[in-house]
Amino acid sequence: MTGTAAAEPTVTTFTSNVDRIDTTAVVLTETYFYAEGGGQPADRGTLGGVEVVDVQHRNGDIVHELAEPPAFDPGETVEGQIDTAFRTYCMRAHTASHVLYGAGRRLLSDLGYGGFDISATVPDNADDDFGPAITGKVRVDFETTTEIDDETLTELERLTNRAVWESYDVTWEEIPRDEALGRDDIAFNTKTEEGIEGETVRVVTIDGWDVAACGGTHVGNTREIGPVTVLGRSNPGEGLTRVEFVVGPRAIRRRATEHERAMTAAQSLDTNVAELPAAVDGLQSECDDLRETVSSLRERLVDSRLADLRDDAIEVDGQRWLVGTVAGLDANALADRAESAVGDDVDVAALVDADGQYLGVGTTGGVDAGEVVDQVTTEFGGGGGGRPTVAQGGGLGADGDEIVAFLRDESVTADSGD
Ligand SMILES: [Zn+2]
Repeated sequence: MTGTAAAEPTVTTFTSNVDRIDTTAVVLTETYFYAEGGGQPADRGTLGGVEVVDVQHRNGDIVHELAEPPAFDPGETVEGQIDTAFRTYCMRAHTASHVLYGAGRRLLSDLGYGGFDISATVPDNADDDFGPAITGKVRVDFETTTEIDDETLTELERLTNRAVWESYDVTWEEIPRDEALGRDDIAFNTKTEEGIEGETVRVVTIDGWDVAACGGTHVGNTREIGPVTVLGRSNPGEGLTRVEFVVGPRAIRRRATEHERAMTAAQSLDTNVAELPAAVDGLQSECDDLRETVSSLRERLVDSRLADLRDDAIEVDGQRWLVGTVAGLDANALADRAESAVGDDVDVAALVDADGQYLGVGTTGGVDAGEVVDQVTTEFGGGGGGRPTVAQGGGLGADGDEIVAFLRDESVTADSGD
């Protein structure tokens, strides 16, 4: 018994004899239902009025799995009704994979086989403005050495839609296996050998665009595919690039959504979509300039603060201590500034972040910077470390001024000396 779905994909109502029944599994003498395979899902529909939930190839048979045991018996004639909307979606989406692969032939180097896959589901609330809403993405895996960057991805989409518009005929025929394998214009899945295990190979030709060995269902002309929108790319394995896309209503919706978002962004920047990239570039460079200005102003603020603290330096055991809070610096920056503050008239610099989070200590060597940090973290919590002349602490749980008062207490500072 053979499946005729791929040969005559437009037949969706038929009658056939029941060959065998095993509870809910039914085999017919002939069927137009498509059994799952080649990256295309099984057809849905009814057999003798009973819902068909799955169709699979099993030991050379095409087995229809029904929702419940049927009332009909072997030998009887039953009517098969294939879910036309679902089948049409699959034909369009699946043929789009071939067209996209053909676009890949024109753009990608060392192109190997492309794996196709349609994931399609019909939600319960299936209707929208476009008719039956079938959700699901379609993917093509390209085996190629070319990196598919944004530009290439956009070009793949453009070429695919152009091939749809050009209305190329799509035809299929069975040719001897050896003849098919001898042709280097046909894409094969050499890994799974799917579609080339029999004596003949089913070859699907998109006139002037692509030739592939495939057992799926296809539309008769590329214009039947409708709009195709690429969603993105990923790398499922070494040397493979997966391109995902949607067709039909979802493709239209996706584009409308993107257009809407672009217009919203343009409006925020007081420009139009065409000028959006330039406006974003301008904003980016303005942002960089401002960041630089803020950073230099902050440096000057810290310089000025350190000059004030220098005037307030205290002397303990012959060591001059510069102690105080500085706003807006983290532990690393505080340690850097403390290290460069020592010398000349300062032997120890202990800088505390104004929020009391971080501490940086620099010394000329007469006092151990790590010990100063240890004393502070013992008192206020947190942790830290460093070298004898520069150390830092973080996670202190106190007010900055409180930590400064602790450090300015001569008994504490005196303990840190050798
Ligand atoms: Zn196909």
